[in-house]
Amino acid sequence: MADRDGKIWLDGEMVDWREAKIHVLTHTLHYGCGAFEGVRAYDTANGPAIFRLQEHTERLFNSAKILRMKIPFTPEQVNEAQKAVIRENGLRSGYIRPLTWIGDKKLGVSPKGNTVHLMVAAWAWGAYLGEEGLKRGIRVKTSSYTRHHVNITMTQAKAVSNYTNSILANMEATDEGYDEALLLDSAGFVSEGAGENIFVIKNGVIYTPDLSAGALNGITRNTVFHIAKDLGLDIVQKRITRDEVYIADEAFFTGTAAEVTPIRELDRIEIGCGARGPITEKVQTAFFDIVNGRNPKYAHWLTQV
Ligand code: PMP
Repeated sequence: MADRDGKIWLDGEMVDWREAKIHVLTHTLHYGCGAFEGVRAYDTANGPAIFRLQEHTERLFNSAKILRMKIPFTPEQVNEAQKAVIRENGLRSGYIRPLTWIGDKKLGVSPKGNTVHLMVAAWAWGAYLGEEGLKRGIRVKTSSYTRHHVNITMTQAKAVSNYTNSILANMEATDEGYDEALLLDSAGFVSEGAGENIFVIKNGVIYTPDLSAGALNGITRNTVFHIAKDLGLDIVQKRITRDEVYIADEAFFTGTAAEVTPIRELDRIEIGCGARGPITEKVQTAFFDIVNGRNPKYAHWLTQV
C-alpha cells in the first residue's frame, strides 16, 4: 500500500502518494478519534461512477458531528475530492477512502484547539471476501467479542476507534479458519459482521437487526431495502438471535467492500442448503445491476467522475 505511484487528496491539495504523510504526534493516532468512509466506484458503460456518493459524504459529516469534529471542507468539496482521486489515479473502478482526523498541534485527551484534517485516497480493490465467497458463500463465526453498546462508543459514527472491536473479531475468526466474524450486541442479539450488516431469510421474508443492536446504518443495507421492495419481498427489522441465523433458509452480509456476500455457515452449522440461496442470488444480481449502471431506475445513485 505504501510505495506506489499515484495521487492522494490531502487537505485540499492533490499530492503524490509517497508524500501524503502526517506526524507521529497526530492526536488521532494516540486517542483514536477520527472518522472514515468506504466508497466504491464501478466501471459503468458511461465510464467510472461512484455509487451513492452523496450518502457516503453525508455519513462522513454525520460521523464527524457525532464525534464533535468540524471538517474544514464542505460536502461539495469532499464529493469533488472523491471524483478527483478516481480520475487522477486513472481508475476505471476502485475503492475510495475518505478519512478525517485530529492533527498534531497538541496532545492530551482534549482535542480542543487542535486542527481537523481530511484526506481521500483511492485504489483498485476486488471482492473483499473473495470472488469465491461471492458465489459460494462464506463461513462465519460468532465472535467472543461483544459489539459496541450504543452508549459506549457511538455506533452511528463510522469512527476509527470502533474498528478495534472489528479487528479483534475478524482476527479471532480468521485465525480459526473462518472468513469473517458475526458480533452480538451486549444483550446477546445479532448485531453485524466486523465490517458488514447481516440479513437472514426465513420462509421468503428478509430480516435484519434494527439499529438499536449497535450496527452501522449501512448504505448497502439501505440499497437492499430498495431491492427487496422491487422484488416484492418484505424486509423486517427486528431483534435476531444467533440460533435464528442457524435455522434461517439463507443469510448474507452487505457492505461497500463486501457488496452482497452469501453466508453459508455460522459456527460450523450449515445455513439452509449450505450454499448461496435463491433469494440471496436475486438480491445480489439486482445489486450488481444497480452498481454497474444496468438499472436505469437507480441511475441517480451513480455519479460519473
Ligand atoms: N458495519 C460496519 C461495521 C462496517 O464497517 C460497514 C462498512 N462500512 C458496514 C456495516 C456496511 O456499511 P456500508 O454498506 O455503508 O458500507
